[in-house]
Amino acid sequence: MESPLVAVLGGGQLGRMLGLAAIPLGVRCRFLDPVDGAPAAAVGPLVVGPLGDPGALDAVAAGADVVTYEWEGVPAEGAARLAAGCPVRPGPDALAVAQDRLAEKTAFRRLGIGVPEFAAVDDRAGLEAAIDAVGAPAILKTRRGGYDGKGQFVLQSAADADAAFAALGGEPLILEAMVPFDRELSVIAARGLDGEVRCFPLVDNAHRDGILRVSRAPAPGLHDALQAQGEAIAHRLLDDLDYVGVLTVELFDAAGTLLANEIAPRVHNSGHWTIEGAETSQFEQHLRAVLGWPLGSPAARGHAAMCNAIGALPPRDAVLAVAGARLHDYGKAPRPGRKVGHVTVVADSPDALDERLARLLTIAPGTLG
Ligand code: AMP
Repeated sequence: MESPLVAVLGGGQLGRMLGLAAIPLGVRCRFLDPVDGAPAAAVGPLVVGPLGDPGALDAVAAGADVVTYEWEGVPAEGAARLAAGCPVRPGPDALAVAQDRLAEKTAFRRLGIGVPEFAAVDDRAGLEAAIDAVGAPAILKTRRGGYDGKGQFVLQSAADADAAFAALGGEPLILEAMVPFDRELSVIAARGLDGEVRCFPLVDNAHRDGILRVSRAPAPGLHDALQAQGEAIAHRLLDDLDYVGVLTVELFDAAGTLLANEIAPRVHNSGHWTIEGAETSQFEQHLRAVLGWPLGSPAARGHAAMCNAIGALPPRDAVLAVAGARLHDYGKAPRPGRKVGHVTVVADSPDALDERLARLLTIAPGTLG
């Protein structure tokens, strides 16, 4: 049997984990990344070149059964160009929606998905009008290119408008009402080629300085009605986008009502726990979906927590001494603020998980968790 070839646009840690999941399935991955020696180079051939470069795109896609991506910054035109010659899953439309916060929030609203009040801001006068419409406090965000909390300015009142515009003006913006949420959740869902949808249990995500630090899954206190709410949101988006692959929706839990914040048209940091903590990992699920294969069970195996290692890896021996802990080293050079790895810890009960997680969090405060 010929082994399928998946071309992956982007070769970071998500690509590396996709490539690792591909090996036991007998699937080959070839990656495109601008950085020579990017993390995915350890698990498959890497084409080095810009993600929008036609020659580089043709080289990575040559002979591939399907093209997918592990980074939503891939220029949508490049993905659309490839789609003429080979299936691109998820389709370029999903990329285009995910790349523009206004298009994203407009889609949420059109689909009847709860969303913070928002208004487009194109100039200084537009900011005034948006504050009138949305109220304060509010967050001004760049429509494109922001990630991990970058490109954002919090306005406590209309008096902050000048400062906000000075910080971000000059590019298309969106103003969003500040939601007094209780916690941040995400739903990671997959849609197969036949339209079947399967969702992992909702994940609870704690951020610091705009970067995800700790995910817990299933989210503490998760009950059927909340899970069903999250699944309905994911299902509507997946069907509307005629999506194939794994999609992540970041959510605010406001007193039990879920509001959508943003989507990532790919596997996601808040789904890394699925490698050890679910029947099927998000990476395998994505490969199954884009290859048109049956989806796997997304059920949790016990309870899991994932801690990102930011800036530096924690000492290996200390991590491995914690029962149920697994270390993932992305093979990246340490640098302040950079995700260089993660640790997942699993346990049979929420209490046992709490205890193991507490031990992990003492190992390298500031970098792990
Ligand atoms: P984002 O880049 O949109 O995911 O925003 C980064 C973080 O800022 C989120 O994870 C939230 O903690 C916070 N945030 C973003 N938008 C809002 C909002 N409308 N209301 C309250 N907090 C927000």
